Order: sequence, then structure tokens, then C-alpha cells
Amino acid sequence: MNQYDLIIVGAGPAGIFAALEIVKMQIPIRILLLEKGMELDQRKSLICGWGGSGAYSDGKLTLTPEIGGYLKDLLGYEEAAKLIAYVDQIYIDYGAPKEVFGEDEDSTGELAHKAALANLRYIPARIRHLGTDNCTEILRKFRTTLNPHVDIFTDRPVARILTENGKVLGVETVNGESFTCDYLVVAPGREGASWLVEEWKRLDLTMARNPVDIGVRVEVPAAVLEPLTNVSFEAKLEYFSKSFDDRVRTFCMCPYGVVVMEGSDGVTTVNGHSYANRRTENSNFAILVSTRFTDPFREPITYGRYIARLANLLSGGVIIQRLGDLEAGRRSTDDRIAHSIVRPTLKEATPGDLSFVLPYRYLTDILEMLKALDQLAPGVASRHTLLYGLEVKFYSSRPKLSAQLETEITNLFAIGDGAGITRGLMQASACGVAVAREISRRISG
Ligand SMILES: Cc1cc2nc3c(=O)[nH]c(=O)nc-3n(C[C@H](O)[C@H](O)[C@H](O)COP(=O)(O)OP(=O)(O)OC[C@H]3O[C@@H](n4cnc5c(N)ncnc54)[C@H](O)[C@@H]3O)c2cc1C
Repeated sequence: MNQYDLIIVGAGPAGIFAALEIVKMQIPIRILLLEKGMELDQRKSLICGWGGSGAYSDGKLTLTPEIGGYLKDLLGYEEAAKLIAYVDQIYIDYGAPKEVFGEDEDSTGELAHKAALANLRYIPARIRHLGTDNCTEILRKFRTTLNPHVDIFTDRPVARILTENGKVLGVETVNGESFTCDYLVVAPGREGASWLVEEWKRLDLTMARNPVDIGVRVEVPAAVLEPLTNVSFEAKLEYFSKSFDDRVRTFCMCPYGVVVMEGSDGVTTVNGHSYANRRTENSNFAILVSTRFTDPFREPITYGRYIARLANLLSGGVIIQRLGDLEAGRRSTDDRIAHSIVRPTLKEATPGDLSFVLPYRYLTDILEMLKALDQLAPGVASRHTLLYGLEVKFYSSRPKLSAQLETEITNLFAIGDGAGITRGLMQASACGVAVAREISRRISG
């Protein structure tokens, strides 16, 4: 039978938590979870398959609504904070470590003070770190909980959202199978963001405009970043550039971690993560520049992809450059990289010149931020520092959503990174819980 009460598209944290919450509430409904990628043990993609981008993520759970999405704007700060605390407890119940970083107010206060002297704003954040190895284990356990209650089909990409008279009807897969439902939750993450935009256009939904963040991943000896990472596992720092007044920020700090390549929709970008049980000699983080565009331009994702593709075109993938080479106006070569005291953890990156890729505005903002950071963590702006490009983060295009995360189509909910409302594990998981509760409320009448 292809008829369900609830269909969830995408088995990332958002989709999984929606299913978990319904199962937890013991609502006797037929649920189908459709995932484009493969099972956990068979998947090769970093962002596609059981667990979504969460599977091989660094597993830093950011325990504040200030970071990782727009939930506080959509649901209100209090509600977002409550959901985050609730989801955090579920991660703990499934095996997340008890330790939380960033709780020592003396040292975070001192860091905030030093940051202010360097023209930086420190955003305090409590963080629980799962580590990539724990993420897969927890995802396996989620699957065990869901198996008896939810029909889960992997390797089953959804092609179309079906609607009738402004109400959701179901979905059609790429293979042409149709499934009907009363409630549809779409949570396709970054992997499905472009597909979703096309669907929103086809369904003629009103769109909100999100910013695009473009930058580089920075790799330094772990010792250099310790003044930050010893205080807070991930130090969130924000800077407004002198040259352009652009918002520039640190993102996804990975102490003792590795830099990795990430492929999505034919574009290769860079990312990073750390393991809970394995350390490298380096730490890495991203510096991202956020820009909002004005009318008539409406394609921030296309813009971000276009710039990332330039790096791919020049290098076949990811470019690596020593900061000293960038400042001296020359490309890095294998020999020059070998002279750096930082041994790159991403071996596949090609030495090159990021100034051929990044527009002047971005390059200037990034160099300014590195200089400011150097005052907090001396050595960050050393000539040996390695820069990998590009790192591009989109909030995917966001349809107009109600406070229940419902689109303009009745009973069609859009959540997680793919819907453009989150950009991290915690908020993605939290919005899954929020829609599950709303659906249960409607079902219970
Ligand atoms: C390397 C890496 C490290 C990260 N580290 C962290 C971190 O430390 N802390 C943090 O908070 N966040 C981190 N993130 C981000 C985090 O993983 C995401 O924010 C989160 O997973 C988003 O959850 P989601 O459920 O919205 O989407 P996703 O996790 O992306 O899952 C979406 C799923 O939907 C599937 N899908 C797509 N299209 C379709 C379709 N048409 N039909 C069916 N299924 C479809 C995809 O295959 C995917 O499995 C990291 C991400 C990466 C890639």
C-alpha cells in the first residue's frame, strides 16, 4: 500500500528527529521515510545517505539558539532554547558524551574581553562534542528505534511534491513511484537544496532571501589555536571589516582535526572535522564572509556555487595556499607548501593562488579577520598558515514559513538545512521535533 499518514523526505537529523518524536509520542500512524542516499554502512557520500550530513559531521552540538539557524526568529527564543535542551537530552540518552565545553565563565569572560580589544565580538556558546566516530554510532541506534515503526526506504530520491487545491497530496520518486499522505515533511538538507528550490518555484511559493557565506578554511598548528580552543571547544568570533563593513566570522572550529573535501551537485568545497578519539597536530576553522544581495539579484546560491566552481576549474578540486604566498602575491607550489611548518591534513588539495578565485572584497575581509584573530591567538596570521578554498555555506533558499514551519501549502512542512532555516545539527534536529509535535497536535484534533 502506498498510502501513509506522514511522509518524511530526507534522513538527516531533521527528518530523523521528526520521526523519532512521532514514535516517542506513540501516535499510531503510518510513517514513510524516503532517503535519496544509501544505508550507513554502504554510503560513500559525505552528505547523502542515512544520517545525512550529520553522519560524518564533527558532531558539535551547539547548545544556543544564537548559532546554527533561524529557529529563534521563527519559533521565538524561549521555544527554540527549550527544543535545543530537549534534543540535547535525546543525544545524551543515545550515547553523547556528558562533557560540555564553554561553561567556565571566568575564562570565557576573559576571552570576550581580549576579543573586544582586537575589534572582535566573542559569542559565547556551550558545546557538546560528539566527534565523527560517535555520530555514526548514535545514528545506528536511532535507526534501531525507528525500524519497527517507520517504513524506511533508502536509495529512493523524491522527484516531485504532489499537491491539490493548495493542500499536500504526496510525493513521486525519481523511479516514478507515488506515495500519498496527509502530512509531508521535506528535510532534504544541502544535498536536496537545489531540487527544493525548483520545487518551490514550480509550486509558486513566496520566497525569502538568505545570505551567502563565502570563505576559506584555515589550518594552523593546534598549539596556535589553543588560547581559543582551550576555553571553548569552538570559539565563535565575529568581525565587521574595516574596508567593507561586511560581517566576517569564524565557523566550525575543529581542534586537532582534519580538513576534508565536500562534494555537492558537482561542486567541490572544503570543510573540517575532528574525531573524539583521534587527534592530529593541527587545528582548523573556517573564515566566512556574509553578504546579502539587493534587487534585482535573487540567486545567492548560484553566485556561491559559481565562485566555488572557479576554484574547482583552476585546481580540479580544492586549492591550498600558504598565507605568506597569498600576501606576497605568488601562488603556492608543492615545494612552498613543504616549507610550511603546518603539514596539510588534506593531501588532495592542489597548491595554487586563491587570489584568482576570491573577489577582492572577500579576500580583503578574510585578511583583515586573520590579522584581528592573530591578536587573540598569535600565529594565526603567520606566513605558514594554510588556507584552503573554497568554503561556501548557503542558507538554502527559504520559502515563506509559518511559526509552525508550514509552507503556504496546507500540511506541507519544510525543515532543516535544505529549507534554509538551519545550518547545524542542533537546530536541524530541533525543528524535526517542532513539526512532529505540530502534526501530532493536528492529528489528535
Ligand atoms: C563535514 C561536515 C561537518 C559538519 N560538522 C558539524 C558540526 O560539528 N556541528 C553542526 O552543528 N553541524 C555540522 N555540520 C552540518 C550538519 O551536518 C547539518 O547542519 C545537518 O546535518 C543538517 O541536517 P538536515 O537534516 O537538515 O540535512 P542533512 O543532514 O543534509 O540530511 C538531508 C538528507 O536528505 C537527503 N535528500 C536530499 N534530497 C533528497 C530527495 N530528493 N529525496 C530524498 N532524500 C533526499 C540527503 O541525501 C540527506 O541524507 C557538518 C556538516 C558536514 C558536511
